[in-house]
Amino acid sequence: MINAFLKKYTTSRTVAVTLLLTALSFSAHGYKVKMQGEIVQPSSESAEFATTQNLLSAQKLLLKAASSEHSFVILLYHHVGTDTPRSTSVTPEELEQHMAYLAENHTVISLDTAINGLNNKTPFPERAVVITFDDGYKNILDNGHSILKKYGFEYTIFINPAQIDLLSSQLSWEDVKKMSKEGVTFANHTLDHLHLLDRYPGESNANWRARIKKNISSAEESLIKQLGYSKKWLAYPFGEFDGELKAMLKDMGYVGFGQHSGAVSQLSDMQALPRFPAAGRYAKLDTLRTKINSLAMPVTAVRPLHYVIGAEDVAGEVNIDVSLDDISFSRIACYFGGDSLPITKTEKGFSVDIQTPFYPGRTRVNCTAPSVKQRDRFYWYSMPFFTPKADGTYLN
Ligand SMILES: [Zn+2]
Repeated sequence: MINAFLKKYTTSRTVAVTLLLTALSFSAHGYKVKMQGEIVQPSSESAEFATTQNLLSAQKLLLKAASSEHSFVILLYHHVGTDTPRSTSVTPEELEQHMAYLAENHTVISLDTAINGLNNKTPFPERAVVITFDDGYKNILDNGHSILKKYGFEYTIFINPAQIDLLSSQLSWEDVKKMSKEGVTFANHTLDHLHLLDRYPGESNANWRARIKKNISSAEESLIKQLGYSKKWLAYPFGEFDGELKAMLKDMGYVGFGQHSGAVSQLSDMQALPRFPAAGRYAKLDTLRTKINSLAMPVTAVRPLHYVIGAEDVAGEVNIDVSLDDISFSRIACYFGGDSLPITKTEKGFSVDIQTPFYPGRTRVNCTAPSVKQRDRFYWYSMPFFTPKADGTYLN
């Protein structure tokens, strides 16, 4: 199947470049997302592309090719059950409904295929989707595995090795080995699900770095010992990260996954790949469908790049450079906690003014815009923010 797509996309590369479907990522976790329901009509701002004479630089062309052909969506699940916390659970019936929808309308690819595609800049099937679970709960095996297996979907579970064979709520190593023979890939969620941004009282930055590195490496070593492979994929517990942690992960050769939703493209930050939470109030297929079909907004730069913001502080103006070729500026909408944020057009994209004070926890600014050329699809971009409590630690 992948080969067929490769063939198709290779032959239609020029067309795809010309069409220039760009991509953004977007998010919804822990606050309400408002979506524009209607689809925009093509506007005069949507550029007619591009004859060979009137061409963009080779680099820009490559960028555009990347954003149109190299886009996919990652779904994030935790529990599969009816008696587990609703906000992180899908029922078996909901999971079945999601998978039936994917089988009918999308191409499910493994995370391996997705990451290799990003690394090698090879195209993905149209509307490709990756399925992931965090935390390694036993109810994934008890209530979910047979559903995924029935559809032949490969998927990835991010686990905490130090909790395995200690907590009965977790998959055992025996379960993990059995499932890995049946299309499940296991990856790193830290040893013990700590808040990676927490500093111990009086802990120096060097000691924090050493402790975090050791935690992540030890978890990876457990995976190697039990399963014989090392993917070097880390899902940040609670989706929490900052610039220093991302840089450290990059040095260590890891790919990092967040919990801010949105599509992934060649332009995405490999140490902060977005995923769409699909549980709780986000499990409804009506709203999930829009996210699964979303395109990664072609954001090339964000200034300033905040991650951690103190309680009662504001982020202020953030500049987002984005290709507006398939996006009508007038249809971009950004939300914070359900409030619409003011947007200003800039030379390279737009800026958003975030004057709402932050509070301890995890929040997002989500920006969406309908694709002009693919009328049923939205571009999404999400900026996650993490605000510590007064004692400098992070909320569960
Ligand atoms: Zn987790």
